[in-house]
Amino acid sequence: RKGSVIITGASSGLGLATAKALAETGKWHVIMACRDFLKAERAAKSAGMSKENYTIMHIDLASLDSVRQFVDSFERSGRPLDVLVCNAAVYQPTAKEPSFTAEGFELSVGTNHLGHFLLSRLLLDGLKQSDYPSKRLIIVGSITGNTNTLAGNVPPKANLGDLRGLAGGLNGMNSCAMIDGGEFDGAKAYKDSKVCNMLTMQEFHRRFHEETGITFASLYPGCIATTGLFREHIPLFRLLFPPFQKYITKGFVSEGEAGKRLAQVVSDPSLTKSGVYWSWNKDSASFENQLSPEASDKEKARKIWELSEKLVGLA
Ligand code: NDP
Repeated sequence: RKGSVIITGASSGLGLATAKALAETGKWHVIMACRDFLKAERAAKSAGMSKENYTIMHIDLASLDSVRQFVDSFERSGRPLDVLVCNAAVYQPTAKEPSFTAEGFELSVGTNHLGHFLLSRLLLDGLKQSDYPSKRLIIVGSITGNTNTLAGNVPPKANLGDLRGLAGGLNGMNSCAMIDGGEFDGAKAYKDSKVCNMLTMQEFHRRFHEETGITFASLYPGCIATTGLFREHIPLFRLLFPPFQKYITKGFVSEGEAGKRLAQVVSDPSLTKSGVYWSWNKDSASFENQLSPEASDKEKARKIWELSEKLVGLA
């Protein structure tokens, strides 16, 4: 049978390119988990994906109710779950004030981390039950949350501090809109959320890999400077960022190429190692990358797991 993969945020950018790359192989049925059904339908059509290779299902990761409803409808669909890709993200680099999810969590961490945390926890049983030879749970990371790299050192840097803002509910009350309890900064909130993504992947690995055989992985696909992620940035930035990445840092990667990289992490028989953060070198060869001290801090990973369980209502 075909493999069955859920990709969140498959209506644009990396998620769409990955959906297309997998659908084209004819070996995968892609469940595009998106908040805007029509946009996803148009995106799939214009990417040339053929109908029998994908299904669009609604999810809004900024609402825990919506995440639960998605899991219910997916389970009722009777489809197996072989691979889950947590890809969707919001980035608000120019926001002056925090905005909030349906349950009142700061939007970037609420969507990118908490929404995906609940989704992957609820779908873990489904993954366990799959009889697919290589089951995987992939959480897309980023270099920007990784302060042991040049790009990860561009201020404001990710820093989760002692997690007091997360422990305080991340709801904007009593200066708790940021995980570290500091002043709101949209760019930093995004980077913090990506550190949570990478820590969550490793915590999943420690808790469940041996027992379930599921491969847990994260990756930095390269700088895909053309995606919608930068839609809220100032126009001058959006104009100059792609050529800057292409000619100066040379970290630029096209959406198509980045999609092939993530598709490899989904399906390549050689990328089955669990607990790994994949990156690609200039020749587009994959390698196991090192994470920053904070993004590999076991104690922090455990605490974030436990605090997140409380916030999403699992504990
Ligand atoms: P895009 O903005 O193109 O894609 C983000 C996707 O997430 C969109 O499909 C968007 O939906 C979806 N999304 C946002 N909010 C929600 C929500 N509340 N519920 C459901 N879906 C939602 O950005 P990219 O493709 O660049 O980003 C994809 C991933 O790649 C992210 O995890 C990002 O952190 C990561 N990444 C990107 C890099 C880059 O250089 N671009 C570099 C490193 C990592 P909609 O279409 O409706 O807006």
